[in-house]
Amino acid sequence: MHFGPLTLRLLLISSLCLPQLGLTAEGEVNVYSARKEKLIKPLLDRFTEETGIQVNLVTGKADALLKRLQSEGRNSPADLLITTDAGRLHRAKISGVTQAIQLPGQNKVIPESYRDPEGHWYGLSLRARPILYVQDKVDPAKLSTYEALADRAWRKRICIRSSDNIYNQSLVASMIAADGSERVESWARGLVGNFARPPRGGDRDQIKAAAAGICDIAIANTYYFAAMLDSKDQAQKAAAGKLRVFWPNQQGRGTHVNVSGVAVTGSARNREKAVRLILFLLNDDSQQWYADINGEYPVRPDVPVSPTLEKWGTFKMDTLNLSRLGELNPDAVRLMDRAGWK
Ligand code: FE
Repeated sequence: MHFGPLTLRLLLISSLCLPQLGLTAEGEVNVYSARKEKLIKPLLDRFTEETGIQVNLVTGKADALLKRLQSEGRNSPADLLITTDAGRLHRAKISGVTQAIQLPGQNKVIPESYRDPEGHWYGLSLRARPILYVQDKVDPAKLSTYEALADRAWRKRICIRSSDNIYNQSLVASMIAADGSERVESWARGLVGNFARPPRGGDRDQIKAAAAGICDIAIANTYYFAAMLDSKDQAQKAAAGKLRVFWPNQQGRGTHVNVSGVAVTGSARNREKAVRLILFLLNDDSQQWYADINGEYPVRPDVPVSPTLEKWGTFKMDTLNLSRLGELNPDAVRLMDRAGWK
């Protein structure tokens, strides 16, 4: 090929301009994220630095973002949805706002339990929902399973948030998968009878209530407990310091776990770049950063956990495919309602 002087000059100009244009030259990916900006943005910036692909981030509450995707439909500018809880990811799938994708080498990248069997969503990080007990008040030898929390021995000793929360719905869904609806409904009645107070507040509030002497046991997700233990707020740190982690169901199916995850939207116009971003979020460095900053476990078992989580030791996780949590969600909601779980 022959370059005339003008072509040469144009080439020179365009190569000089590239550093500034670099951001858009490689295109963009639009992300709706239920994770707060500071918990995801630095990672997205690193992706842009490495690939030149610009990431446009919209953050919001998980349920609001899903509603927004539904109302925007095929016109949604979003390519990716990042949200928490398999129950929600499944809701996104059945409401038709996601699409199935195959990740190259996905079988090696993410354990089967933590992704949708049809490829509509993929886990990015893991959280467990263990039993937290007040160290001075509970002998951990008396603890065993979620099921055993319905025993009369725990009367007025348990704090847990309301049944309209997805984390509890997913926990109950995992129990339905293991024990069947009938057994879980009578368990839920027993558990409600053991509540120290009518459910209120979030997971952190259950930990605070236990520390304040309102109850002896709190059920909460691990990242809330980790955040309180590592908090600069001395009151939160001190409250969490009174509690210890107990991993339930270790002789059986394992402790209930859930994911934060990602889905490619049905409307995605930048599908190939969206897949590149998912793969980036699953690489070694991203996995470690994302899990650490969110106080979670990496979804990849070969990536190390943070020092705070490491102190709690390893535990057996329930290997139920988390898409079941979504499928059983309506049953769980009805069952909790019948059992009087406010
Ligand atoms: Fe949460």
